[in-house]
Amino acid sequence: MSIEVRELTKSYNQQKALDAISFTTGSNHIIGFLGPNGAGKSTTMKILTGIIPIEQGSCSINGLDIQENPLSTKRSIGYLPESNPLYSDMYVQEILHFEARLHNLPNSTQRVQEVIAMTGLQAEQHKRIAQLSKGFKQRVGLALAIIHDPEVLILDEPTTGLDPNQIIEIRTLIQQLSTNKTVFLSTHIMQEVEVLCQEIIIIHKGQIKDHFLSVDREDKY
Ligand code: ADP
Ligand code: ADP
Repeated sequence: MSIEVRELTKSYNQQKALDAISFTTGSNHIIGFLGPNGAGKSTTMKILTGIIPIEQGSCSINGLDIQENPLSTKRSIGYLPESNPLYSDMYVQEILHFEARLHNLPNSTQRVQEVIAMTGLQAEQHKRIAQLSKGFKQRVGLALAIIHDPEVLILDEPTTGLDPNQIIEIRTLIQQLSTNKTVFLSTHIMQEVEVLCQEIIIIHKGQIKDHFLSVDREDKY
């Protein structure tokens, strides 16, 4: 599924955070959304997920306009926010069951066990969020994002704040989870797009500066 953004503009207090940005991504690979802090990455992602309403312009997921089709486009998206507000007193398994119920998933017990296995949380599932390292908290965030098996994953700075080992583990996990999905991943780190992404969109001060396909590389680490 592709992500299409057309002439998207967003201002905060008369200041343009996004200045009529347009792009159309490819499908079923990892797209890096690269730019410094304040470039407009989170704002774009929050508009795509419906958290921030559209002021001007439009966005579509695989040709479906998100304003005209809010329910079906939301169902096709999984989102990892930049600062993940996980309830620290909840148990890993409990928070995943809660999310599965929010999505009205059939066989939610089975699906929770599947995502726990997919994200390597077996040994942590009976721990409270507060007991987890940052890397494992990020795994919980990814498990929450994929629980309804969305075709599009929107990951806002998924490795920011992690230590070097956790960064490698989370990048590897993102690669594993990206099979048959369009992953739109923001970062301010050039090396991250080099190792992870097949397509790169560069944003700076609310404007798209470049958009290109990367040379396909194996053995990225
Ligand atoms: P990025 O994710 O690339 O760091 P953001 O989308 O968070 O960029 O921010 C883009 C610009 O919009 C920045 O100048 C930021 O300070 C501003 N901004 C973001 N959110 C808000 C907000 N809620 N209120 C006011 N300004 C905001
Ligand atoms: P990022 O740049 O990656 O989005 P920030 O630290 O800028 O992260 O933003 C954290 C939160 O604060 C976001 O919810 C964002 O919308 C909000 N925010 C960012 N800049 C401003 C601002 N200038 N005024 C008010 N809220 C802001």
